[in-house]
Amino acid sequence: MRLARLASAVAIVVLAVASLLAQEKPSGKSVKAIRFGKLWDAKGKLWTNAIVIVQDGKIRSVTTDASSIPAGAEVIDLSHYSGLPGLIDVHTHMTYYTDETPGEPMRNQLQNRPAAVEVFLARKGALRTLEAGVTTVRDLGADQYMDIAMRDLINRGEMIGPRMFVCGYGLYITSSPYKPGWNPPAGGAADGVPEVLKVVRQQIAAGADVIKMYGSTGTDDDVTGFETYTYEEMKAAVDTAHQFGKKIAIHSYGPDGARDAVRAGTDSLEHATDMDDATIQEMAKRGTFYVPTIDHNRYYVDNGDRIGYAPGFKDRLQAFIPRNLETARRAFKAGVKLAMGSDAVYTMYGENTRELGWFVKAGMTPEQALQTATSNAAALLGKQMELGAVAPGYLADLVAVEGDPLSDINVTLNKVKWVMKGGEVVVDKTKKTPGQ
Ligand SMILES: [Zn+2]
Repeated sequence: MRLARLASAVAIVVLAVASLLAQEKPSGKSVKAIRFGKLWDAKGKLWTNAIVIVQDGKIRSVTTDASSIPAGAEVIDLSHYSGLPGLIDVHTHMTYYTDETPGEPMRNQLQNRPAAVEVFLARKGALRTLEAGVTTVRDLGADQYMDIAMRDLINRGEMIGPRMFVCGYGLYITSSPYKPGWNPPAGGAADGVPEVLKVVRQQIAAGADVIKMYGSTGTDDDVTGFETYTYEEMKAAVDTAHQFGKKIAIHSYGPDGARDAVRAGTDSLEHATDMDDATIQEMAKRGTFYVPTIDHNRYYVDNGDRIGYAPGFKDRLQAFIPRNLETARRAFKAGVKLAMGSDAVYTMYGENTRELGWFVKAGMTPEQALQTATSNAAALLGKQMELGAVAPGYLADLVAVEGDPLSDINVTLNKVKWVMKGGEVVVDKTKKTPGQ
């Protein structure tokens, strides 16, 4: 018995060493030096002629001194472009990918596909997300732990996509009508404090990085915002998440769920429209992040016919958008920290950063908008020492854009030319095609 155990322990060590060696290969020992014409580091500095030295997937230094480029380093010349930290989208649904099969409403596609098929297809959305300059996402809601599978496949290098922080099932109140002979999957359904505790613990046990709770009605073309969970249920979810060192995001379309979510101590509040002044003041005081997700309703207006929404969806959504924008404007003015969340779903992957255009409309400078997708978003993830900045010790997530992102936010939305994630180039559109 003992010998067998020893042998298996040795085998585990050998395997661990072997996998470490295997992991080292893709990132490599080689050093890279990336030159940018301008570099916004999200630490308050705009560099001219910056050189970012990258080693083992991390940023070793930022300099303007070419003589400090180590001998033998691979030099990547992006001096015609501006550099930014890899962007972070704090609200996605990567596993709700749909293609554009003609005649099949996108909603039906999601219901009809097995989980394994859905995860495989989702790699396309993951690639489009990277192409938008988004190297990290916080994914807020999936079925059958597809998000955990996708996160792990990406971390193993089997799928190319943004680094994912995932929640498993979001918690929701019982809302399915009774159907004889059909038992809906347990998923995230939880009613009352004991069930909330159980379902939060279940997500943590399954490997979730963050907890998500649906604190109000409202999704897709339904823009009602009736509070679903009580304050006590929200408090139980928040406290249990925090007990295990996890953060929590609470969804509320309307002001009542928002008020209770903030009082309960949520780390971020998603969507919330028409918030009262007291709630906004409380968010500013507590440092609660607000993720307005304004642009996703614009996407629904543009694509609702293909998604399969009920008639009248455009009017409902179009009435909601200005209220959403106005709430964001009031919150920003009151000193609330905002983070960029797209709520990307269906075919929206790649449009993640359009949210920043709304933030500028809400009163931000382009630089303040970029902070919502870098330093603020990293702080919301609890990764402010690893992500969201170009500085020594940070993961080497870098984006090159054509133009000046600090004078025009559209440069970040439409002119991403090159992306590095963890020291590896994952997008490169800098090579000019013949004739250009
Ligand atoms: Zn969402």
